Amino acid sequence: MVVAYSDLQQDIRNGVREVCARFDLEYWRKSHEENLYPTEFVKAMSDAGWLGALIPEEYGGAGLGFTEGAIILEEVNRSGGNANQVHAQMYTMGALLRHGSEEQKQKYLPQIASGDLRLQTFAVTEPDAGTDTTKLTTYAVKKGDKYIINGQKIFISRFNNTDLMLLLARTTPLDQVQKKTHGISLFLIDTREVGDGIEATKIPTMLGGDTNQLFFNDLEVSEDCLIGEEGRGLYCVMDGMVAERLLVSGSALGNGKWFIDQAVKYGNSRVVFDRPITQNQGVQFPIAQAYMELRAAEALMYEAAAKFDAQDPTAGADANMAKYLASDAAYHAAEACMQTFGGYAAANEYHVNRKWMQARMMKIAPISSNLVLSYVGQHVLKMPRSY
Ligand SMILES: Cc1cc2nc3c(=O)[nH]c(=O)nc-3n(C[C@H](O)[C@H](O)[C@H](O)COP(=O)(O)OP(=O)(O)OC[C@H]3O[C@@H](n4cnc5c(N)ncnc54)[C@H](O)[C@@H]3O)c2cc1C
Repeated sequence: MVVAYSDLQQDIRNGVREVCARFDLEYWRKSHEENLYPTEFVKAMSDAGWLGALIPEEYGGAGLGFTEGAIILEEVNRSGGNANQVHAQMYTMGALLRHGSEEQKQKYLPQIASGDLRLQTFAVTEPDAGTDTTKLTTYAVKKGDKYIINGQKIFISRFNNTDLMLLLARTTPLDQVQKKTHGISLFLIDTREVGDGIEATKIPTMLGGDTNQLFFNDLEVSEDCLIGEEGRGLYCVMDGMVAERLLVSGSALGNGKWFIDQAVKYGNSRVVFDRPITQNQGVQFPIAQAYMELRAAEALMYEAAAKFDAQDPTAGADANMAKYLASDAAYHAAEACMQTFGGYAAANEYHVNRKWMQARMMKIAPISSNLVLSYVGQHVLKMPRSY
């Protein structure tokens, strides 16, 4: 597949670049160092319609596909920003779109598309379950027309900067289900109404931003919060996880391109031993290699996104592989850039260290590279399950 940007995709790039240009590297450095959520940036992206871009037109969005979604996030990261602060809404709304009732869709999607409601939080990870989501123990008990929720989540992003949260919780104990993927339900919760039912404690991380541990203390929510069928929640978010892999691939590509731009520009102008440092093969070749890896990852990402938009069942495998390759290529670009900057990479004013941290974490979250390898080994190549 040849990567050729359509006129629409080029227009999208230009439009997103125009918004990003209003938020310079210093804005992002301050947000990172002072742990400030980039509220103004998120609002500007919402106002320009980019965060509702994937919502169908009938619900007030632009009805764009996932290739375009990935491009939007790529441009945010390519500008030196942090797409993680805005990406969740783009993939979480898919669960609501595909599995919500018409009443739920009418109630939320137009407001999400207009930016009046933020759906920026997806609470899955738990301290004792880790990557094995089937072991999650946050529990929702049905009482009359309500669910009472108790439990704990960890590393939950943007909780203090969202209006809505998607939550996965068990509604049938693990030892009472036929398949361990059964008995987990999906809830859409209005975080503005939870009161003391959820206690959030901030987790300072190397990425800055708004990461939290959540404690659910007899949180009462209406049965109307359930998305899809009770006990089938994991199936409701499966498509969303493929979408997430695609969008994160776009973000990783944006980071990678930023590093290549910076490394070439700085390396060509930095003269040591009477010549630009990029004239040395030891500096030049890792940059060239990372660039080629990025191009290859981009081609697979486009193919995966096109398949996903066409509802091709092989999209999931390709999206996982694209995420693996894009995050790896971006990390190699980050390493090459850091090495090119030498000691200056350590100075915050060059932003390389901040972006390096983003690139490194993409090999772990939202899905770690090992788990993609095991998926490909088992499901694509039909080798025994490795765990
Ligand atoms: C900044 C940040 C923001 C996050 N935001 C969110 C969020 O908004 N919502 C949310 O739900 N979660 C969020 N997470 C959690 C994130 O998705 C998890 O950290 C990630 O999925 C890995 O899970 P874990 O940390 O429990 O690692 P573990 O499951 O403990 O795994 C640790 C390591 O062991 C490896 N490993 C485990 N099992 C195997 C195996 N069978 N084979 C090979 N290797 C294996 C993994 O690859 C990993 O490298 C966030 C994390 C961070 C750091």
